[in-house]
Amino acid sequence: MADTFDLIVLGSGPGGYVAAIRAAQLGLKAAIVERENLGGICLNWGCIPTKALLRSAEIFHYMQHAKDYGLVAEKISADLDAVVKRSRGVAKQLNQGVTHLMKKNKITVFMGEGKLTGKGTLAVTAADGKTSDLAAKNIIVATGARARDLPFAKADGKRVWTYRHAMTPPEMPSKLLVIGSGAIGIEFASFYNDMGAEVTVVEMLDRVVPVEDADVSAFLEKALKKQGMTIMTGAGVDKLDVTASGVKAAIKGKDGKVVTSEFSHVIVAIGIVPNTENIGLEALGVKTERGHIVTDPMCKTNVDGLYAIGDVTAPPWLAHKASHEGVIAVEAIAGKHPHAMDVRNIPGCTYCHPQIASVGLTEAKAKEAGHEVKVGNFPFIGNGKAIALGEAEGFIKTVFDAKTGELLGAHMIGAEVTELIQGYTIGKTLETTEAELIETVFPHPTLSEMMHESVLAAYGRTLHM
Ligand SMILES: Cc1cc2nc3c(=O)[nH]c(=O)nc-3n(C[C@H](O)[C@H](O)[C@H](O)COP(=O)(O)OP(=O)(O)OC[C@H]3O[C@@H](n4cnc5c(N)ncnc54)[C@H](O)[C@@H]3O)c2cc1C
Repeated sequence: MADTFDLIVLGSGPGGYVAAIRAAQLGLKAAIVERENLGGICLNWGCIPTKALLRSAEIFHYMQHAKDYGLVAEKISADLDAVVKRSRGVAKQLNQGVTHLMKKNKITVFMGEGKLTGKGTLAVTAADGKTSDLAAKNIIVATGARARDLPFAKADGKRVWTYRHAMTPPEMPSKLLVIGSGAIGIEFASFYNDMGAEVTVVEMLDRVVPVEDADVSAFLEKALKKQGMTIMTGAGVDKLDVTASGVKAAIKGKDGKVVTSEFSHVIVAIGIVPNTENIGLEALGVKTERGHIVTDPMCKTNVDGLYAIGDVTAPPWLAHKASHEGVIAVEAIAGKHPHAMDVRNIPGCTYCHPQIASVGLTEAKAKEAGHEVKVGNFPFIGNGKAIALGEAEGFIKTVFDAKTGELLGAHMIGAEVTELIQGYTIGKTLETTEAELIETVFPHPTLSEMMHESVLAAYGRTLHM
């Protein structure tokens, strides 16, 4: 006899575990199935442990610049093992937090490999081979994704690393090649550069962080170069040869010339692959596109009673998008009428140094979409708090529809912008205009005053520049 639930969630990342909690809140009898760690990639191998590593690097950086603040810090050094240990400890704490949340919400946890066996049925095989049969009227697939390998070189964990290896490095890289300049690649480049490695970033497209506004990409490239990194855009790695002392990489540059350089280690950060294999999708006829499960605005697949959320579905592949979809799916299942997700209002953050944060359309995308735009730009150097913090590098850019005044997008680079972006995100969700933002009072002295100034700048009214 199968164990019967109102809802089964396959995968316990920020999509899955949040969905299970919302289900419990709505009175549904929920089960969650996880083969590795409760909390998924985000808490164990993604968002959180990387931020712990980056925090150590940030403090190390400040210690090296103690003199700028009138302080003395001598004989400073970094202990990579201790830094990694702290990061793993943070991940463990949050993993235990999710375990507690499952208990508190009376969600039944099945540890093991889950596979859909039919409509509304799922089998779980535990590590010891024991199987459990589960049944529910509704199932949510939240199996997430994993790192994409280069077609010609599989990560070996010794010299060639995925993000998992880079988070638990066997040793400190002396000369590091990072392939891919999306958020994950740039965060690791930033971390290892701050920790003292010589870092080269290779990006196939013509600019770093290519999903961001072009002005942000240009500013970041300059900042990273100033920090000593080598940045190669419009370039690709054709071949990797692991040698006794490192990795030889054949890199084709912008000019088409191939140069071979040797590195101690390589981080491959060229994207993700959804976890859709061997979970029974084919037998049920679940529709996928480029491997990702296709869903409607309520996260429903083409199969009745089957939903999908998070990284296993369409982009953006971010933890907060996964969690939000978890809530939407469960509320739809429970017969509520949730709002569909508007991807234009999902913020994105990169915790490199300097930080990047954005929401909505870039200037180029807004123009492509046919908007006549008004653009505001305000630099950190015009903000008293930024100068007091010793963080006067960066800017905040806002993009408005010239006709209606609607805020279309906001793009920031500089200290703490990942904490600032939410102000504009709320504004976008409320479909705000320049008039409302201009009327809003911002506290002094804060970095957030630049958010006001950027809006004022779009309308030729900036006060402090
Ligand atoms: C290095 C790194 C840094 C990141 N930083 C950020 C960040 O700062 N901010 C941000 O928003 N996002 C970040 N992300 C992305 C974020 O981690 C993902 O978007 C998020 O984890 C997706 O959540 P999810 O619930 O869809 O899936 P996941 O978190 O991937 O969880 C899926 C879970 O399903 C389990 N599973 C898969 N198949 C099965 C099966 N058959 N049976 C049982 N269990 C199964 C997996 O073990 C996993 O635990 C980062 C990712 C990486 C790799």
